[in-house]
Amino acid sequence: MTETHCPPKASDLSPNPLLEDWTASGGVPPFDRITAQHFTPAYARALAEHEAEIAAIAGEPAPPTFANTVEALELSGRLLDRVGNAFHVLAGAHINDALLEIERDIAPQIARHWNKIRTDAVLFRRIDHLMRDADRLGLHAEQKRVIERYHTDFRRAGAGLDAAAKKRLAEIIERLAALGTAFSQNVLADEQAFALPLDSQTELSGLPGFMRETLRSEAHERGIDGYFVTLSRSTVEPFLQFSDRRDLREKVFRGFVMRGDNGGPTDNKAIIAEMVRLRAERAQLLGYRDFAHYRLDDAMAKTPGPVRNLLDTVWAPARASALADRDAMQALVREEGGNFELEPWDWRYYVEKLRQRVCNFDEADIKPYLSLDRMIEAAFYTAERLFGLEFTPEPSVPVWHPDVRVWRVSDGQGKEIGLFFGDYFARGTKRSGAWMTALRDQQKLAGYTPLIANVCNFAKAPSGEPTLLSFEDARTLFHEFGHALHGLLSSVTYPTISGTNVATDFVELPSQLYEHWLQQPEMLRRFALHYQTGAAMPEELLQRLVAARNFNKGFITLEYIASACADLDLHSLPWSEDGDQVLDPNVFEAQSLARIGMPDEIVMRHRLPHFAHIFAGGGYAAGYYSYMWSEVLDADAFAAFEEASDIFDSATAKRLRQSIYAAGDLQEPADAYKAFRGRLPSADALLRKRGFVVRDPAVN
Ligand SMILES: [Zn+2]
Repeated sequence: MTETHCPPKASDLSPNPLLEDWTASGGVPPFDRITAQHFTPAYARALAEHEAEIAAIAGEPAPPTFANTVEALELSGRLLDRVGNAFHVLAGAHINDALLEIERDIAPQIARHWNKIRTDAVLFRRIDHLMRDADRLGLHAEQKRVIERYHTDFRRAGAGLDAAAKKRLAEIIERLAALGTAFSQNVLADEQAFALPLDSQTELSGLPGFMRETLRSEAHERGIDGYFVTLSRSTVEPFLQFSDRRDLREKVFRGFVMRGDNGGPTDNKAIIAEMVRLRAERAQLLGYRDFAHYRLDDAMAKTPGPVRNLLDTVWAPARASALADRDAMQALVREEGGNFELEPWDWRYYVEKLRQRVCNFDEADIKPYLSLDRMIEAAFYTAERLFGLEFTPEPSVPVWHPDVRVWRVSDGQGKEIGLFFGDYFARGTKRSGAWMTALRDQQKLAGYTPLIANVCNFAKAPSGEPTLLSFEDARTLFHEFGHALHGLLSSVTYPTISGTNVATDFVELPSQLYEHWLQQPEMLRRFALHYQTGAAMPEELLQRLVAARNFNKGFITLEYIASACADLDLHSLPWSEDGDQVLDPNVFEAQSLARIGMPDEIVMRHRLPHFAHIFAGGGYAAGYYSYMWSEVLDADAFAAFEEASDIFDSATAKRLRQSIYAAGDLQEPADAYKAFRGRLPSADALLRKRGFVVRDPAVN
């Protein structure tokens, strides 16, 4: 493929680092030379190249074979992957106005591009032919699985539909992509617009030292003196937990829960209504009752029924536990002479007081023992014990921001596994939340080692001082690192089934399972060392920390299930011909919460107007339940190590690696789990893990 057919545009005259061969840097994009202006021409070229490759595969005169169709598809679009992955990292972790504009422009183009491929009738005929012939072609299991995945993806994209339906689907998908981008940009805009500078000592009342440091460095970053509260979750939650100022807690809380719901140009409610309607229409065109049925058909759960069962099973004991906590807190308010009913902005504050009373420690006692570097070390150590991995700092690799750190990952015998990027600190150019992303997926077909990144939003300590994490932050670090290992340990031939390319309700198993190791006393004894003295956490404090693990679990469970239910309810709305019924997301949200009996003092973990999991892109649309579905699996999976009486038991770890972490989407999730555990799990381990009563039928 050459580029001499069309006259170069002005921007094409200078070399574009996105279009260079990155072999010398091991496939890492030259971030040090990439600027926003390189993306538009690179995308244009990548899309054109991929289109030409696809046309050649579809136009192949020879009858379809695995090599000339599926393998050719697997090898196509590499430039698009590279450019897209580099863009994706920047759009999440280091965005600017120019990139935001490109994102708005490119998202619908990409959606159109993929939709055109996945609805290509000629390509689908070739894949369908291979699918029916798979047994006669002498293919091995992985190849058959890849054909099956292609067939499912094409069918679900509408490749089997008539021209009119396809055209409508294409319009819907493109529109959804544009709406998803607008949604997340609106949330970001509301987050950036929020400003709560604090200057007097009374406004800082209750905030521990680490919190003041964080707020000071936020202010510093904005060139102002004093302290500054932002809407990053890792600032909001501790602020609500510690601030004695009820009025300020309310202000921060309202800012946080009103993101995307403030009226004006950044309001997301109309976007939500349109997205829900379009998704329902899409499902209906493809022959499904509603979007939830469409979505779950290709998940481990298969239908919404088992999901609702699970959420219902957990809801009742969680609610009882949360209400008991609420009553205890209300009593505390009265005891302190407070003459008010507990409000949502009081929950974290009084729960912290309750925690101190019942478990007799506060978060500020724990934090000095959880330095970021030690926790990274702990995550690496766990991977070394379980899977024999080694991590060596690699400072020479180009990165997208000076705070990003890189490690070379090897198998301990000198064989390189891949690279791991850690981008841990919150900053104004980063979206909120924490995630794993791949700069390159593992695949044997093209001989690619994985390049995997974790992006988090930990509040950075002032320069020269170590960053200290809350226990929740440390859990996030382990969680994301579990995802990273799913990418790094992947050992498959075909990119389509590589690493985290698995069902949404299975993808959280490797990440949530990994969190268990952080919480083990033997790990805390080794890595929870005081950042100044290096002393281990006093045993008695450690025991209290472990004992407090289930504290406030009722609240945490309810705020999560409420979001999961609203997501499922919203996507269970069938599409109707008359478009007059405009959905009001706030009314719908209130109804959904009333149905399950949500206590007034608790808000959803993600209210609909900023529920990025389901609207920014839509990766978790009708799929937010996945975290709890996966928790059923992770609780049961970790029990395998407990049963072996060794949290690093090598035989169990070997099966875990083989069937889960290395296996990508080689088989159906239920089969993969059975291969590891010998059976499917029940919800009992999850209820026990969350500290809820499990009724044993034998005892009654
Ligand atoms: Zn996750």
